[in-house]
Amino acid sequence: GQTIGVFTSGGDSQGMNAAVRAVVRMGLYLGCKVYTIKEGYQGMVDGGDHIVESTWSGVSGTIEKGGTIIGSARCKAFREREGRLKAAGNLVRCGINNLVCIGGDGSLTGANLFKQEWKGLLSELYEAGEISETEMQQTMYLNIAGIVGSIDNDFCGTDMTIGTDTALHRIIEAVDAIGTTASSHQRCFVMEVMGRHCGYLALVAAMASEADFVFIPENPVASGWQEQLCGKLKQERDIGQRLNIIIVAEGAIDSHGQPITANDVKKLVTERLGYDTRVTVLGHVQRGGNPSAFDRLLASRMGAEAVMALVDASGDTPAVVIALDGNQIKRRSLMGCVKRTLYVQEAMKNKEFEKCIEARGRSFAK
Ligand code: ADP
Repeated sequence: GQTIGVFTSGGDSQGMNAAVRAVVRMGLYLGCKVYTIKEGYQGMVDGGDHIVESTWSGVSGTIEKGGTIIGSARCKAFREREGRLKAAGNLVRCGINNLVCIGGDGSLTGANLFKQEWKGLLSELYEAGEISETEMQQTMYLNIAGIVGSIDNDFCGTDMTIGTDTALHRIIEAVDAIGTTASSHQRCFVMEVMGRHCGYLALVAAMASEADFVFIPENPVASGWQEQLCGKLKQERDIGQRLNIIIVAEGAIDSHGQPITANDVKKLVTERLGYDTRVTVLGHVQRGGNPSAFDRLLASRMGAEAVMALVDASGDTPAVVIALDGNQIKRRSLMGCVKRTLYVQEAMKNKEFEKCIEARGRSFAK
């Protein structure tokens, strides 16, 4: 059996533990050795007791936990070749040449770079006497399977990322809770949700919670939006609605590229309509709490598939990312997905929204 290392990296999201658990258990089931690497790339660079062999019972009671138990970190050292050399040495000494990277596009980009450099890193370690010839031969190729953990659903190539569904639950629970009190007092609530570069959470939460208005980065509101918004709120009140809910994504802007904040909206509604208006900023609540059933299952399916992809790899197989396509779990080119994601980020930066939406939605050839 192979030797697999699994780690979580970058921003945390609910369901990461379920993915780690599935990797460990599927790996053991298929006769592999599985190590968990604590604190992402930092643990890989530091080595020692950050790299721990895992057991079947070692991951029990983790599927329902939010965040990531094995820790996540941003790691400066791994951005330098020097750091990656140390990381490679620590992996090779444990016999690890298969990695499951659970993180965002940054973490997956790092993993791909690591794979490209692997051969050179091993030669250097061997020449410096850091690893033996046998160790080098046993870990000749580095195989990578990526799983995307992100509440923003901002990665191209997969329909859903792990954590998004749970974050949506947190948002709509908050809207429902606020709705009852807002209704009692005939208030207007402006809710700021996460999404600096991707309006998915705001848009879907607005649809699921019957919000009156939503602001997202991909759809800058044209001039005159103030009249449109106030007209809509008034119309709802006139037909007997006792509350208003407005959802604003962090990165919302108008057609001049000016940010629209929850406080801007509150000011407008208070001044023009005189409604009692309150702002709620959800913040890290969206990242918190137990993963939903959907995220637990998605993470479990992705974790299992990641291990199967690694077991199937022979020779120098290109890195894959595990994706959800409709209701199927698929393997896709990690580099293809990362490239598409960076293209979308660039389009967002340049305010080329149609380009961005088209690229996000386009179906993906394997
Ligand atoms: P995310 O994975 O959530 O997008 P980051 O972009 O912060 O989060 O990436 C997490 C970690 O991955 C970084 O701290 C760094 O150690 C590693 N990383 C990211 N990009 C690269 C890169 N281009 N080269 C090497 N390592 C990288």
